[in-house]
Amino acid sequence: MIHLLNFSFINFRWEDIIDIFLVSVLLYQLYRLVRGTAALNIFIGVAVFYVFYRSVRLFDFELFSSILGKFIDVGVIAILIVFQQELRKFFLFIGTYNVMGNKRIRKAMFSWGDVSKETELDIFSVVKACRNMAEGKIGALLIITRGNDLKFYVNTGDPVDARVSVRMIESIFFKNSPLHDGALIITNNKIRAARCVLPVTENNDFPAHLGMRHRAAVGITENTDSLAIVVSEQTGEIALGRDGALETNISPDNLKDLLEKYLSN
Ligand code: ATP
Ligand code: MG
Repeated sequence: MIHLLNFSFINFRWEDIIDIFLVSVLLYQLYRLVRGTAALNIFIGVAVFYVFYRSVRLFDFELFSSILGKFIDVGVIAILIVFQQELRKFFLFIGTYNVMGNKRIRKAMFSWGDVSKETELDIFSVVKACRNMAEGKIGALLIITRGNDLKFYVNTGDPVDARVSVRMIESIFFKNSPLHDGALIITNNKIRAARCVLPVTENNDFPAHLGMRHRAAVGITENTDSLAIVVSEQTGEIALGRDGALETNISPDNLKDLLEKYLSN
């Protein structure tokens, strides 16, 4: 019996652990990209097609399997075309990830100097501006970056480069302001750009009563680690997007707690 439990034939090296780790990260990132979107259904479709093709081959239906085989032959190219959008998002995510923007890494590298104090987001001002805008039913969309610096999306808007303050945020979103449309992108304590155009989520389960501003708040957090604050023009409600999910109807105090929690690491 003992020899049955002998696993010595499994030659496990430490490279294998890294290999498995990398594959799981890759699969998880791919899953995050496709979760809830049409791409997931397409993927299921492709899998079903492949299983069907294997079964037809098994039963030796020659003509049929040769026709299906033609599709399989161009499989990789077909998949690249079908998932073109998802692949684009994936590479955009890798390409725009800013290692030095990650506070934890920065702290570890420059732990002797206090880099965080002067650059830390003034949460109080952001929350106060959101509270005022919510009371006045002024629509707003604020993106707070973390590791990923969102350079690509900053470039879609107008550069601002101003320190965060209640008046600054409010005057940007003031209804007649030329900058009020689109999203504001904030990094550390700097407003980098206004009027930015963000990707909108393609999630089929997205609640129908929420419009494009809310969709954009979810869209930008699906592929990046940023936080998205929405103030609704229609209802005056505040919502917070993170990791592709939206917490709706949160109070300003609640917003403050959540921002402190998410920005602390
Ligand atoms: P509200 O509750 O404030 O009406 P909503 O979710 O219903 O928000 P819409 O009414 O569809 O959103 O759009 C309101 C504003 O959101 C637009 O005028 C525009 O400024 C902004 N917006 C919409 N889509 C995007 C996008 N993709 N990127 C950035 N901003 C956007
Ligand atoms: Mg609307």
